[in-house]
Amino acid sequence: MQLNSVFMTHSMNWQWSLLALVFVSLALFSCAQGAKQKQAEKIASLSVDGNAGPVIEKTDAEWKKALTPEQYYVLREKGTERPFTGKLLMNKAKGVYTCAACGNELFTDEMKFDSECGWPSFDREIAGGKIKTRQDYSVDMSRTEITCARCGGHLGHVFSDGPTETGLRYCVNSLSLEFAPASASTTPVVAVNMPAVAEPVSAIDTLTVGGGCFWCVEAVYQRLDGVVSVTSGYSGGSVKDPSYEQVCTGRTGHAEVVQIAYDKTKVSLTEILKVFFTVHDPTTLNRQGADVGTQYRSVIFYRNADQEQTARRIIKALADEKVYDSPVVTQVVPFKVFYGAEDYHQNYYNLNKRQPYCAMVIQPKIEKFEKVFAHKVKKQ
Ligand SMILES: [Zn+2]
Repeated sequence: MQLNSVFMTHSMNWQWSLLALVFVSLALFSCAQGAKQKQAEKIASLSVDGNAGPVIEKTDAEWKKALTPEQYYVLREKGTERPFTGKLLMNKAKGVYTCAACGNELFTDEMKFDSECGWPSFDREIAGGKIKTRQDYSVDMSRTEITCARCGGHLGHVFSDGPTETGLRYCVNSLSLEFAPASASTTPVVAVNMPAVAEPVSAIDTLTVGGGCFWCVEAVYQRLDGVVSVTSGYSGGSVKDPSYEQVCTGRTGHAEVVQIAYDKTKVSLTEILKVFFTVHDPTTLNRQGADVGTQYRSVIFYRNADQEQTARRIIKALADEKVYDSPVVTQVVPFKVFYGAEDYHQNYYNLNKRQPYCAMVIQPKIEKFEKVFAHKVKKQ
């Protein structure tokens, strides 16, 4: 009897312990999920200063040397050119309008419209915080001044009387702008730190990133508004046109990557990279969860100075804001070559939703993305 009761007590203890363990595990699990959600929200709301590129600071003397007297008057002294005199007022060619002082890409031909106000007018700007606004009380009425976020140059004003669906009219001095026609496909190759004027002109840009298993990263980017296409593949290694099996050995030097083509007028590079940092863990060296090896490294392959600087700025902001407990180990390296993965890897999640890996690993990542970036989710 006594023995029996001792046994009972022990057995009860054992059962209670097991139950407690289950509860603690569940609590820890949901705690970890909650922490991940909070982390993602923090990344989404991260303020990444100077998104338009490096903040260019020059003395008045330097600007006077770099600009014509007319440009200096408008860009640096906030002057206004006489209406109906600007060289770009009637321009209808296809191409990109850049800041005349620093080359920052501001508008495309698709955003331009005839306003009959006497200055070039646009109904929106290229996404990505390339233009800053400020209330301007220099005349009797309050106006919203627009300046180049990269160099601080005065562009003009933005008014809320636009005739298109945006309701906006960016009224810009021709003297503040340069125009790069889209047909200029024979643009000379220039050093990466040259102004963007000489860069190839297109609203579509391409970025290649590696964040572990490409099925996951691809599935999330397919759902981001402004993304034109996503291709899974391999990059960063030494073996030409590798197979999946070769990459899996970890000896090709390649990482599993996705190549993202995106419309700069709809989604900014900053947003693309914020999504990147929420869809994988950038603090684990050569590992994503159970996937271990250099092929799963966290890496950003940049194609131009803007991509490199934006990537480095976000990584710095992540550190400054202490988003992660451990340092970010993401590589930021120049892009060389991309090899598309085998057909069965493309569009993998959408074609294999019922597979356990898709349901258990990919689907929660998509759900987290859709929750945190709700306003940026592509409308199906
Ligand atoms: Zn500028």
